Amino acid sequence: MEESGDGRWYIIDDQRLMSVTTALNAIAKRGLIPWAAMLTAEQAFADLPLLNSASRRKPCDNTWSRCRHEADESCGKCPCRVCRRCVQKWLADRHQRESARRAEEGQRFHDVAEWWSYHGEIKPHDGDIAPYVTSFEEFIADYGLLPDDFLLAEALLVHRDIGAAGQTDGVVRVHAERTEKAAKLISRVLTHAGNPVTWKQAQKRKLTIDSLLDYKTREADDPQFYPENALQLAGYRHFPVIRMKNSDVEVPMIRTDGGIIVQLRPEGYAVRPVVCNQGTYERGFLNALDLYRWLIEDGPAAISSRTFVLPETLAARARKAAKDQATGSPTTSTAA
Ligand SMILES: [Zn+2]
Ligand SMILES: [Zn+2]
Repeated sequence: MEESGDGRWYIIDDQRLMSVTTALNAIAKRGLIPWAAMLTAEQAFADLPLLNSASRRKPCDNTWSRCRHEADESCGKCPCRVCRRCVQKWLADRHQRESARRAEEGQRFHDVAEWWSYHGEIKPHDGDIAPYVTSFEEFIADYGLLPDDFLLAEALLVHRDIGAAGQTDGVVRVHAERTEKAAKLISRVLTHAGNPVTWKQAQKRKLTIDSLLDYKTREADDPQFYPENALQLAGYRHFPVIRMKNSDVEVPMIRTDGGIIVQLRPEGYAVRPVVCNQGTYERGFLNALDLYRWLIEDGPAAISSRTFVLPETLAARARKAAKDQATGSPTTSTAA
């Protein structure tokens, strides 16, 4: 298995599988635009002296150049970074720098959580993710979870028929008898599924549920969830194949009772069961995937000036293709 450079595709046995995260990221996320705008506004106040001097400088004309050299080298085409246009662009791009930093931070947290589910201990980690790790330890203590309860930790889930794959954080077995929080989660999930049971009954009967799980780190202190989160879990729950990490070994997907998002924040955590049933899968997930596929495969041609042509143009293209074939020169593609 290899993941292509831009993270958009997984290549497995010569089949190109769409990355679920990439597809769902392409769907507009509520909250992202105000967040990006606020980051820029904050940065502007933090950099008042820089803004002040930039407003009096002549634009350098190199603001948009993409230098190919190393970051510590410079050339005559480098953005000056101090003129008004360069500073504006730097402010406007802040959300990209922040997104990259948070993705990287989230990955390091995931590594710690995964390690725990295999070894039962918290491995050494950097100070910047320590608050998330503390919240994670609270989570496992409050729900009485043990490493053995992780029936699956980070693995790739594969659905060849729909041409998609994605990374899951795992499947966890929650035991009602362990803690009140665990029993209440089970009670809520089973009641929603049409099998009402009180949390005390759940404890008495030693009920368990197997749940797909997704960790999300969140920097802000208020719990906030988005419908896309449910889409991803609905997708994964219905994927038929688990491909074990760093191997070609495939096993059938584990049957689950539901899906939960575990949101880790610097000041705490939230466990949120989400509706990721057949309905969410068919109406939400599959449509989202189809929409994304249309956007990348057919979208460009839908608005291209080359799509609608005169019959004369078509005839000329056909003649040229026939001639190229006769002379053996490569046929230039006319699809755009
Ligand atoms: Zn340069
Ligand atoms: Zn400049």
